[in-house]
Amino acid sequence: MIACLERFVHDNDAESKPDDDVSSIGKSLDLQGSIESGGKTGIAGKDFGGLYSVRPLALIKPSGAEDIARVVKASSLTSHLTVAARGNGHSINGQAMADGGLVIDMRSTEENHFKFLRVNGSPYIDVSGGALWEDVLTRCVSTFGLAPRSWTDYLSLTVGGTLSNAGVSGQAFRYGPQTSNVTELEVVTGKGEISVCSETQNPELFFGVLGGLGQFGIITRARVKLQLAPDMVRWIRVVYSEFEDFTRDAEFLVTQKEGESFDYVEGFVFANNDDQVNGWSSVPLGPDQEFDPAHIPQTAGSVLYCLEVAFHYRNSDHPSSVDTAVSRLLGRLGFVRGLKFQVDVSYVEFLLRVKRAEEHAKANGIWDSPHPWLNLFVSKSDIVEFDRTVFKGMLKDGIGGPMLIYPLLRSKWDNRTSVALPGGEIFYIVALLRFVPKGPSVEKLVAQNHEIVQWCIKQGLGFKLYLPHYQSNEDWKRHFGNQWTRFVERKARFDPMAILAPGQKIFKRTHHNLN
Ligand code: FAD
Repeated sequence: MIACLERFVHDNDAESKPDDDVSSIGKSLDLQGSIESGGKTGIAGKDFGGLYSVRPLALIKPSGAEDIARVVKASSLTSHLTVAARGNGHSINGQAMADGGLVIDMRSTEENHFKFLRVNGSPYIDVSGGALWEDVLTRCVSTFGLAPRSWTDYLSLTVGGTLSNAGVSGQAFRYGPQTSNVTELEVVTGKGEISVCSETQNPELFFGVLGGLGQFGIITRARVKLQLAPDMVRWIRVVYSEFEDFTRDAEFLVTQKEGESFDYVEGFVFANNDDQVNGWSSVPLGPDQEFDPAHIPQTAGSVLYCLEVAFHYRNSDHPSSVDTAVSRLLGRLGFVRGLKFQVDVSYVEFLLRVKRAEEHAKANGIWDSPHPWLNLFVSKSDIVEFDRTVFKGMLKDGIGGPMLIYPLLRSKWDNRTSVALPGGEIFYIVALLRFVPKGPSVEKLVAQNHEIVQWCIKQGLGFKLYLPHYQSNEDWKRHFGNQWTRFVERKARFDPMAILAPGQKIFKRTHHNLN
């Protein structure tokens, strides 16, 4: 088997008979699933970002953990093969790619697990690492009337892909990120071993893999906490002209007890003008709603702020009780009166809201264009400075897509996971989600992202990249800070030859153990 892999690697260098070789590798690995030639144009060499493309050796569609373990073990016996799990390829900077390596299409395992269970009376669902969150949602709600508690805004992402980062949305202030909402994982390590891990069983692997950027193992199954799914959501947007008012109210809402706040809290910055994409019209929630700029105070600057909240309720709740509860919560906020928008939608429709935006963007041809996105976590102590320089300055005309900003609470994150966070209890997620046509502007925007990051470093801001992307060892060390040693130790223990997730560019494939 190994001889075959080695021969394949060398033959492929000379670009000879790739299809024959791939089929002979497939046979020698004795996979239940399938293997196909990688190629630069296939899905394995591309991602949502559209900024990078590489030529992998082959794309493997495993049938489950055993196939994945076989592929990793076989790779470990070669001198330089790497293995990248590919969730749904929604990374921006090639994180799920393997140049010259093997890409594992996790989607082929999406049906492998869907088992409901109770642990100490609480409901959980076991799902495949390759399952899409949108399928987990619709199946859990329609089958059990239950749903996971913590989400991402967009759900065509895989369970393993978001757990390898964090998984953040407007529920994270209450329940923590998705990494705080799983209790057990099945993982194929970089040694090709299949391990079940949890807080009490192989905890170092469990916490390492959560937010671990795919460095320690490939998640093949996750046990996700469930709760009763509401029927309906009142989805509301209110506008602020002053950043200090916006942050005061957002922080107030995320620090209230359950039952005394909304169930979802997010926010975004938009341009104070009539630009169709970046301006006032990005705020209303329905076609019948109009943003009347006459309400904007004279003192407002180049950008405005929108607080987006949601209130869950059941069909059996009396409409007046929902109105009363929502009015009471809104009554405590200092938004610009007259600039409030709301709609009532089903819970599933609310969680699938970005899917509608995706359909729209696909119809306009901008979904498949490049996405030079930048995501950061910024400490509360530095967010005013960030607003002043970045939103009110560099990005005052908008970015051709959403500029999200909302507060999160560090105490809802488990510091045993691999995620790197800035200091302080309250920090903000800032997401610059650019949609741009192909062309020279893409490089300019990548350069602008770089400029923002460099400015943060130079000013000594408390910040971390979310979905980080660095090229140098020095940058990775700075990113992880005092967690770097632990990160390296975990790598040495679970993937000593640095076979996994080469697209993150943290460790180089080695012959010898890292330790
Ligand atoms: P991929 O991009 O395929 O993989 C990401 C990384 O994880 C790679 O290194 C890969 O090797 C590794 N990996 C993949 N599967 C596994 C596995 N099973 N086990 C171990 N490692 C694995 N993120 C948020 O937190 N909140 C949001 O609201 C949000 N919204 C988004 C909206 C859009 C439109 C897009 C494109 C992205 C969004 N993201 C959001 C970012 C998203 O969480 C990341 O891009 C994540 O990596 C997505 O996953 P994927 O399943 O496509 O993974």
